[in-house]
Amino acid sequence: MKPISTEEQSVQTKFCSCPAFAYYVLNSEVRVMCKHILAVKLAFRLQKFIERSRTEEIVLAMALAGTALT
Ligand SMILES: [Zn+2]
Repeated sequence: MKPISTEEQSVQTKFCSCPAFAYYVLNSEVRVMCKHILAVKLAFRLQKFIERSRTEEIVLAMALAGTALT
């Protein structure tokens, strides 16, 4: 496996706001990530990772609407 680049390290996610992360990762020592973090890691390794910028207004609107920040 190739070493992790500085760019990949910068996009590595260590926290997710989903319920599975809170329940399975934070409350147990069995799982180290949820499916969302795994998807980010796989997308980056497969060079399918797309980083999108969002304004604070869009993030706030999504949070208020209960939309996942994906
Ligand atoms: Zn998650």
